[in-house]
Amino acid sequence: TAAAALALTGCGRSDTGASSSSAAAGFPADAKIGVSLPAKTSENWVLAENLFNSDLKAAGFQPTVQFAGDGGAPAQQQQIDAMISSGVKVLVIGAVDGKQLNTQLAAAKAAGIKVIAYDRNLQSTKDVDYYVAYDNFKVGELQGQALLDGLKARKGSGPYNIELIAGSNDDANSKPFFEGAMKVLQPKIDDGTLKVLSGQTTQDQVATQGWDPKNVQTRMDSILSSKYGSAKLDGVLSPNDTLARAAMRSAKDAGQEVPVVTGQDSEVESLKSILAGEQYSTINKDTTNLVKATVQMVKDLQAGKEPTTTAKTNNGTIDVPTQYLEPVLVTKENIKDAYKNDEALNKIVNP
Ligand code: BGC
Repeated sequence: TAAAALALTGCGRSDTGASSSSAAAGFPADAKIGVSLPAKTSENWVLAENLFNSDLKAAGFQPTVQFAGDGGAPAQQQQIDAMISSGVKVLVIGAVDGKQLNTQLAAAKAAGIKVIAYDRNLQSTKDVDYYVAYDNFKVGELQGQALLDGLKARKGSGPYNIELIAGSNDDANSKPFFEGAMKVLQPKIDDGTLKVLSGQTTQDQVATQGWDPKNVQTRMDSILSSKYGSAKLDGVLSPNDTLARAAMRSAKDAGQEVPVVTGQDSEVESLKSILAGEQYSTINKDTTNLVKATVQMVKDLQAGKEPTTTAKTNNGTIDVPTQYLEPVLVTKENIKDAYKNDEALNKIVNP
């Protein structure tokens, strides 16, 4: 009866996700789940692919995990269209370009599909339900502070010559990364502690299209040959590890001592570089935990429960209910302890 069904809805919620016939269930326990990822511009995305496949399967779902790859935003649009037609109940999206999916997101909403923005927020749309990520502005602040601390520790007292690098402009994360860092660095540029000999200090001037390390190397090569002469490059703000290694290569090629360079993502080559005393820092954003938090959201939605969120993030149109995880700064100081919970990386830093 209706009364019995209502009673079930009120108290019969299960968080096991085991029963697809429960009155409270959001959708069947073996539902199809679509995961759409950008390009493999850093190791974290490749890890995420494997983890989404294994964790969603372990939870009883049928995952489809795809990369937009070189096809960029248009490829991602087509892949999401196909996922919607195939009957997915949840879309997990790490967008190439958070502003280019509005048509797909509106179609998802119309089909009753829940949308979770993964790592990168979906922008200028009301059709996104949740966002789960490491706190991006905090990542930037940690990078800015690490650059200052590293300069002091390795290069003695200032003033210091630095250059700035930002991520790809189509990635919603590039702005909070850069603005978080500049919150720390701008006052030091203003008071003369930091000098940027290229004169390039706005996000547009220092952006890296497609997060492509080749673009960093070309830009840094040209800055070092045209603006540095015999001047020393003391430090580089880099938003991630891939670009950090490109900046270090460029400095080496120009005959510079290794500058203090920041990073992000705990990439294997960068961890080795930090251990060797070259790259100064990275940021640990454990992908296992981020995927876990996302899969938990999917399980909650399946069970008809509201997923846990801790914040709201404005995407230009709405405040998106958000679950933020805490990023952790890693330098040579704490690297041996930093990956205790990560079997693979712990082996790298404690061979
Ligand atoms: C991620 C970073 C990553 C970058 C390039 C960003 O959206 O948050 O962890 O380094 O994309 O792949």
